[in-house]
This record gives sequence, structure tokens and C-alpha cells, in this order.
Amino acid sequence: MDKYQILKKYFGYDTFREGQEPLIDSILSGRDVLGILPTGAGKSLIYQIPAMLMDGITLVISPLISLMKDQVGSLNQAGIHAAFLNSSLTTGQYYKALEFARQGRYPIIYVAPERLVTEEFLDFALHAKIAMVAVDEAHCVSQWGQDFRPSYLKIVEFIKKLPKRPVVSAFTATATREVRDDIMDILLLENPEVLTTGFDRPNLYFGVQSPKDKYGVLKNYLEMHPGECGIVYCLTRKGVEEVCGKLKEDGFSVTRYHAGLGDAERKKNQDDFIYDRYQIIVATNAFGMGIDKSNVRFVVHYNMPKNMESYYQEAGRAGRDGEPAECILLYGGQDVVTNQLFIDNSQENQELDPVSRELVAERDRERLRKMTYYCFTNECLRDYILRYFGEYGENYCGNCSNCLSQFESVDVTEIARALVGCVKSSRQRYGVNVIIDTVHGANTAKIRNYRMNENPNYGELAKVPSYKLRQVINYLLLNEFLTVTNDEYAIVKLTAKSEEVLGDEAQITMKMAKEQEHQAKEKKEKKSRKGIAAGLAGADFTEADEQLFEVLRSLRMEIAREEKVPPYIVFSDKTLTHMCIVKPRTRSAMLTVTGVGEFKYEKYGERFVACIREHVPDDGENEDVTGAGIVGEEAGIFIENGMNDEGKGTEKKKGKAKGKQEFSLTEDMEQAFPFADKMTLSELVAKLNELRDESTMKRLTNKAVRQKLLDEGYLETFGFRGIPMQRASEKGKEMGITAERRVSEKGNEYDVLYYSAEAQRTLLDMIKKGLK
Ligand code: ADP
Ligand code: MG
Repeated sequence: MDKYQILKKYFGYDTFREGQEPLIDSILSGRDVLGILPTGAGKSLIYQIPAMLMDGITLVISPLISLMKDQVGSLNQAGIHAAFLNSSLTTGQYYKALEFARQGRYPIIYVAPERLVTEEFLDFALHAKIAMVAVDEAHCVSQWGQDFRPSYLKIVEFIKKLPKRPVVSAFTATATREVRDDIMDILLLENPEVLTTGFDRPNLYFGVQSPKDKYGVLKNYLEMHPGECGIVYCLTRKGVEEVCGKLKEDGFSVTRYHAGLGDAERKKNQDDFIYDRYQIIVATNAFGMGIDKSNVRFVVHYNMPKNMESYYQEAGRAGRDGEPAECILLYGGQDVVTNQLFIDNSQENQELDPVSRELVAERDRERLRKMTYYCFTNECLRDYILRYFGEYGENYCGNCSNCLSQFESVDVTEIARALVGCVKSSRQRYGVNVIIDTVHGANTAKIRNYRMNENPNYGELAKVPSYKLRQVINYLLLNEFLTVTNDEYAIVKLTAKSEEVLGDEAQITMKMAKEQEHQAKEKKEKKSRKGIAAGLAGADFTEADEQLFEVLRSLRMEIAREEKVPPYIVFSDKTLTHMCIVKPRTRSAMLTVTGVGEFKYEKYGERFVACIREHVPDDGENEDVTGAGIVGEEAGIFIENGMNDEGKGTEKKKGKAKGKQEFSLTEDMEQAFPFADKMTLSELVAKLNELRDESTMKRLTNKAVRQKLLDEGYLETFGFRGIPMQRASEKGKEMGITAERRVSEKGNEYDVLYYSAEAQRTLLDMIKKGLK
């Protein structure tokens, strides 16, 4: 068999995707390779196909158990013998697997890196013929990558022990130069063929919003995407709990995932999502690596992640089947603060010396800054991403929120002048916040301490809201009219371009999004299947096709349940879509469908053919005619009976916020309030909200209370590496606010502010008087 036959027979695909073939050829000719291809590009096939053709065993090194299981599951489904060796096996299972491996049963074996140099494994490997070592997620060897795993360093140690050096292939989706060089150096790749394909994922729509009411926007979004699968990422476990809880209350089909849950629950929730038992999963970044679910239609980031690498990787879990999918980021200022804390309190990289560690932290800060700019840029988001990864995109992609939304060009010359002028007149000694506060004319202790109230630009733009000043300063930084030092102080400095702003003829316009309130947008035309149909066969996807799709989907679910595998492992959505177009009534016709190989045909093909025969009337002539005659009713009944109904019936919520009165604290509520020794502000607000009559009263928001605390001087903002953060002032401490150190799931420390019983009373009084 040759590579094309394997591609067709086992994987059911007709053609290779970009980048696959040259790398496969290099491997087959005995050359090392480094493949840098975006998530979803199909990196696995690049080592799996040669593995089937080479004489000897291919070891695949992979960082996560879930990733291995998923891939081995897929291979077995496709009729390829493969196994994994990792800590999820019992000792008995492990030895059994090794024994089968010795007998040469597996052309492909997935191994956890920490297993490689163990005695048992070496005993096997030194006596076996190892044809290739394939390193998946190879960026894990690099300390500069976002996901360094010291155990990956064992790979070279292992390879050196082998009697004959195998071909070494490495794959990653991380394209930055440092990481790429590290992979080649650390893995000691020999004259490798390095191939990078385009990083663009044209089927993904990118959007950024900074909503006042994040939850409202999320809920609205989900209501507009009924029946679709998606991931909602939060930065913290607590965030996951909150968001998941609210969504559940609001009737969505939702589950959760974070490192704080027990193994069993994590696994169950992950499976529930993968097997389509729940449509939405709310998760921390602990979720996702190795999730190959192809029909994820959206990835919403409820918080901004720590860097673009993480963002693109997580967002990239949408639309792996190539169909249109959406990646939405909901930005909030607090996200920056949380990420800063993660960086500053990072317990990772303990094995590094202090200097390198500080270097890593510095890079992390820089990455966070670039991530933040992504949320503020008014340019094409796709272009921004591609440029970040060292590629050039078009200025306008037409498929991101910046390209599509209504922008107004705003003349910000005056603001820019004031800001740059202030940097200059204060002799480039301060960070972003001081500059903004000065221009805005803030009357704070800090500004007085720095004597910035005597600065010529002090209060120059008192009327311009701070957020707007921030947008403009971000724009100036982004376009290098200003820059910040790359250290913990993040001092704003002038650049060669700064004078342009101050000159008489300067004119700076920037695009500012018109303030958009949370309101139901017209649901976009559901174009996903139509799009893929057009892409596959230039065909139309009719209403009848849509119904057939549902029928086939039910059948897929039935089979998946029998086989105990996720539905997409049976057939992807793309394959089902193609089936609806081709409507194959015979074996040979079925084999023309993308994703249907011989092996899978033997397993399931007949049932799908039978199903199609049953549901699409035979017009006796041409199989490829669109099935206009499908009996809607019949199909409808089938769906009713056959579908899992968990996803259905997302009830329309009554009682929209409009028409309700503002939150006000009544006697009754105060009486009923469960004072405690200590609680956080959000707990307090949540409790008050529970006590209100939600049919008549709007929610109290954390933000409003926090603003009041700031206004009254209980909390103070302090600039922290250019980022505004809050802490208790002296007055706040007197009132009873205390800070407690916490350790995050990644081992990072941060402070949580607690309010004592007394402070809770004071807060209630404040709220009762009204926050405005
Ligand atoms: P990566 O590891 O690059 O993120 P995967 O190897 O998990 O991507 O592949 C993503 C999806 O693309 C899988 O569902 C896979 O079956 C599919 N795929 C891979 N190669 C091809 C191909 N040549 N034609 C069609 N689909 C493919
Ligand atoms: Mg992969």
C-alpha cells in the first residue's frame, strides 16, 4: 500500500491537506522533520501514515493522557492497531500492553514522556525496532513556549540510548521563532525539513467585545446559537463555577471542567461534552488539550487569556471540521489584573535560576500586553493574530468583529496630544495610569505625591472619560507613537514618532466602535452547512438535506452509544454533511464520501446506506439528485424519537431587564441578609441579588458597589505594571476589609479581599442610601 491508499482506506480522505504530503515524504525518506501547522491542520496523520509504512514501531510522545486516549481511540476505530502507555493503566494493563508491543502488534504506540527512560520501557525499546519517534505538541520542550514540560527533556536522553537512531519528527502549532529554534536544538533534530503552513483559519470568525454585562452578552449569544456545541473559557475555577451555575439556572445544557474537580467528575463532564450529552462546557484552560471534537461551533472566552498563543490554541478548538465557527472574546479590565497576578506569583519554572525566571516573567508580561492590545486594536483581528505569529495577513479579512462592525472614525488628535504632551512634560517617568489620571485631573494622593497636579497637562481633558483616554493611549502604544519599558514598572516613553503627534499639522484619527449595548442582534444566517456543502460539492444545502442530516445525526448518536465512542469518531459533521449531498445508496457511492474509508464502511457504512435508502425516496435515476422528496413528517417523527433531548427546550426567559426598577435594598432584605464573619464582595452582592424580587428589580452589580467603595475611598486603585488594580485603603482596612493570599490551580498566589461582618453592615448601609 502507498500513502494515498492508506489515506483513503483507513482515514477515508481523498486528498492530503496543505503541508501533510511533503512532511510524510520526508519522513519516509528517512529525514527528520519539524511541522509547524495550526491546530486542526491534521498533524497526526503526518506521523500516523508513515508509521503504517515504515518497518518498525513508531513511538508517539504526547503530553496528556486524554490526548493519547483520544488518538488511540480514533486509530482503533479506523482499523489501525495502536496502544498507549501512561499512568492511567494499571500495572497489569501496562505489562500486558508491553507484551503485545513486544509481539509486534502495534505499529503505533503512544508514550508519556516520563515513561521513556523507565527500566521496563527501556527494556522493551532497546530490543524492539523503533522506526520513528514522533514528538507531538513539541513546544513543550521549550521554556519559552507557553507550556513547558520538563519531562519532555527526557526524549533526547531516550533517543540517545537506542542502538539505532530512529527518524525524529516533531509537531507543534506554536510558531514563534524562539520556540521553533528550541525544538530543533533541544530535540537535536538532524538537518530537519522544517515546514510551516499558513496559520490562518479562514473558517473562524473572530470577535472581541468589552461588554458592561458579560453574562448578559454570553446568555444572549447562547440563545442565538441553539443546538450548537461550544466551549466557554474562564480564567479561574471560581469563574467556571459562577458562569456554569448561572447558565444552568437559565436552562442551558451545560457542564463544567476545572482542575478542582475530582478525576472521575472531570472525566465524566468531559465525556458528556464530547459525546454530545451536553452542548456547552464551561472550563478553565485545564480543558481542551487533546480535545479533537470536530463540531465545536463556538469558543467564547469569558475572560481574556494570558497570551495570544493560549488564545489562538483555545479558540482554535472551534471549527476543526473546517465549517464556519466563531471565536468570541469578552474582555474586562479585571482580566488583566488576574493575569498579572498569575505571572507575578507563578510557581512554575521552579527549577530555573532566578535570572532566567525573571526573564520568563518578563516575556510573560510582554505577551500579556500583546494579548491586551488584541482586545483594543481597531484593526482586523485576524491580521493582528497572523502578525503576532510572524505572518502577514490582509488588512481586511471581512470575517472578524472589527472588519464587520460599525466603526466611527474619531478625531483623537487633541487627546493624543495631551497624553503625549503629559509623558513629555513629566519627563517620561510614569506609567500609563499616572498619565491618564493626570490628564483626567484625578485628585488622588498619588497624583499629589508625584506633584502631577502641577503638571501643565493636569486636568486638561477632565471631561473625557478615562476609558476613552485609555483607548487612545492603547492606540498610541499599538502604533508606536509611545512605548512602555519592558520591566515591572512599565514606564511610558516617547518614541521617534512621538513628535509627529505634537506637531501642528498632526491629525490622528482612530476607529472607535460605537458603544453597543447588549441587545439581541439579528441571528446571523445559519450558513455553516450551506457553506461546507458549497465547499465540498458546489451544492446547495436544502431544507430536506438539513432534515436528512438530523436523521443521520441520530443514527450516529445511536452507534456512538453502542460503541461507547464520541459521535465525531464515528463520522464527523463534515462527513455527514457530505452524505446528505451525495445520498449514497450503494457501497461504492458511500466510499466517495469524504471521511468514509473501507474500514469504517465495513463497520457502519451499511447502516447509513440503509438509513438513506429509507429516508430518501429512490427516484430511480440519479443518486446525486437533491432529495427534494424527503418526507418531512417522517423525518420529523424520527428526530423526535431518536434524538437525545438534552439540548432541546432552552426555554425562552421571561422578564427582560427593561421595565424593572433599579436595585434597592429594602428592610426585608436587610433583615434576611445572612451576615457572616467574612465574605467577598461578589458573595455579598450575590446574596443580595438572591434576596430581591427578580421579577420587578434589576440585579445589583459588583461593579456599582466597587465603584462606590472607590469613590468613598474604602478601596484605592494603584498602578501595577501599568495595570490599574484595587486594594483596601487605610479607611477600608479600618472598616474591616482584609486581604488573604490564595493559591490558584496553577500554583499562583493572589489576594482576595474579604469584608468582615462590620464591613458588611457598612456596605449594606451604603447600598441602602443608593449608589449613585
Ligand atoms: P492537529 O493535531 O493538527 O491539531 P488533527 O491531527 O487532530 O489536527 O486533525 C484535525 C482533524 O482534521 C481530524 O478530524 C482529522 O481527521 C482531519 N484531517 C486530517 N487530515 C485530513 C485530510 N487530509 N483530509 C480531511 N481531513 C483531515
Ligand atoms: Mg494534534
